[in-house]
Amino acid sequence: MPHASNIVYCDGPDCPHAFDMVGLQPRNGALDALCPRCHGHGGWNAQIDLVTFRCRRAICDRCNGAGWVETGDDPVAVPDIEMGPGGNPRWVLRYVSKEEAEAIDPGPLSG
Ligand SMILES: [Zn+2]
Repeated sequence: MPHASNIVYCDGPDCPHAFDMVGLQPRNGALDALCPRCHGHGGWNAQIDLVTFRCRRAICDRCNGAGWVETGDDPVAVPDIEMGPGGNPRWVLRYVSKEEAEAIDPGPLSG
């Protein structure tokens, strides 16, 4: 039996439901300003069911999900995956210039 659902689709962070159930990202101390695109959320709903609140999230392409951006010339930490010593991939932080960080396409992420 199908569950009730009321799915809305968001084109981007300007959608009225874009930040439903999306928490703010804590400032990590190295970054300077709230991201002007995602307003500190690090991403937004690409799709959300207003009944069950199941959602698909889009990662902000301005701040790479950090919610904060570098306004000076400091290196920016971006999440990346590398192979660990046990042969398993693991998350690491990679430090790149602000220009490099803005050029990274984090790609779609579904939740
Ligand atoms: Zn952002």
